[in-house]
Amino acid sequence: MKVLTYAVGPLSTNSYVIYDEEFMEALIIDPGSNELAIEIEELVKAGLNFSKIIATHGHVDHIAGVKDLRKAIGAKFFLHKLDVEVMDVSLDWGWELGYRLELEDVRPDYLYEGGETFRLGSYDVEVIHTPGHTPGSIVLNIPALKMAFTGDTLFRGSVGRTDLMGGSWDTLKESIRELIGRLSVDTIIYPGHGPSSTMRYELANNRFIKLILKEVKHLW
Ligand SMILES: [Zn+2]
Ligand SMILES: [Zn+2]
Repeated sequence: MKVLTYAVGPLSTNSYVIYDEEFMEALIIDPGSNELAIEIEELVKAGLNFSKIIATHGHVDHIAGVKDLRKAIGAKFFLHKLDVEVMDVSLDWGWELGYRLELEDVRPDYLYEGGETFRLGSYDVEVIHTPGHTPGSIVLNIPALKMAFTGDTLFRGSVGRTDLMGGSWDTLKESIRELIGRLSVDTIIYPGHGPSSTMRYELANNRFIKLILKEVKHLW
């Protein structure tokens, strides 16, 4: 599986293109800018077939490229059902950051509930519901390749903020615990902002994760 990373827009959002080289089947995660359409059209010319655009959550910096990309490549847009409202409100904040989008431009074609698994080329991709940063945040996990796209739930050395609409620190803690249980230590983490990481690094260095693990110990 190839991973292409584009840091785009005023918040340097990581937009990922991942594709199976054998099947030439591709997926876009968190398209943060319409500028991506140029790059993506080149990839389509090179033979990549994009079936899905998936946002890890509804914040405007993660969905701003949906409008142009959906038109350019004809892929369907997927979002967790609990983030449609967050997306709607986030589009209003977006105007202050220079994003110019209406809900109609980015309305999802399909709503995830969490727990789905789909194929990308020869690999299974799991949709893990990880609320906390937003109610409908998801992590996309490819267990066979030990790769996880964590959006704004988990960063290298940090976790997502919980002070925005629908955010909850208690809920985020539960989601992080679930990730610790499900992702092996060798898993590479591809976050919504900043550099990639591994679960091993996060377990040893992420002070939020340490705090959460300490709380679990106290329960025992
Ligand atoms: Zn966010
Ligand atoms: Zn973000």
